Amino acid sequence: RANRKFHPEDTVVILENGTKIGGGNFCLIAGPCSVESEEQIIEVAKRVKDSGANILRGGAFKPRTSPYSFQGKGEVALKLLLKAKEITGLPIISEIMEIGQLPLFEDVDILQVGARNMQNFDLLKALGKQSKPVLLKRGLSATYEELLMAAEYIMSEGNDNVILCERGIRTFETGVRNTLDITAIPVLHEKTHLPVIVDPSHSSGVSRLVKPLSLASVGASCDGLIIEVHNDPENALCDGNQSLRPDEFDDMARSIFRLKEAM
Ligand code: PEP
Ligand code: MN
Repeated sequence: RANRKFHPEDTVVILENGTKIGGGNFCLIAGPCSVESEEQIIEVAKRVKDSGANILRGGAFKPRTSPYSFQGKGEVALKLLLKAKEITGLPIISEIMEIGQLPLFEDVDILQVGARNMQNFDLLKALGKQSKPVLLKRGLSATYEELLMAAEYIMSEGNDNVILCERGIRTFETGVRNTLDITAIPVLHEKTHLPVIVDPSHSSGVSRLVKPLSLASVGASCDGLIIEVHNDPENALCDGNQSLRPDEFDDMARSIFRLKEAM
């Protein structure tokens, strides 16, 4: 079902408020790694909206490498994210870690499946049985075929609203957190009709690399970007190193829109 051969035209995922993703509709998703407080998420939401973001991200349940790291604020965070949605009108995306959490995500517009859950097949099947769009992140060491088969797990249950996300993969290079696989963008576009977006924040792990990687991804025709933005990166509870300040995000967004116009 994800194969371009049997479905030549691009899939366009349409959110509840009419926002379109894919088939020439570019999405700019921005927000903090984790929702930390009302003040933080509302401030970031307003700022990224002003800069042209059309979807707000915010983690509630965090799949951290260490069990001793901050695990996210859970249900409280989702409530704050919903408040930011009400105030700004931006659709929201947040990561779901297990299917029992689904009722909590009722007003969340896009369900994110993190890299570490890309092959959690029971979760994928359950998300296929409901109709909300799913953002499926590429696993840390997953091949294109494995990513597409994971998408197939969702689609084979009846949900075709899947967005793929390249978020950097594990290579021999240790100088950055992950290696952004730019090649994934054109190759996935050949193989599948699903929208392909890029996460340059987790790809690099370093905020100053987010802009060049974003521009490169847009140059390679990605359908959107998901960027971590924090109002106080130095004190962020999670992923501060790779988070842009709102003014840095604004600068980056301007360059992105200029590049898109020129393409
Ligand atoms: C995230 O988006 O905050 C995240 C944890 O990403 P990934 O699953 O790609 O590591
Ligand atoms: Mn993060």
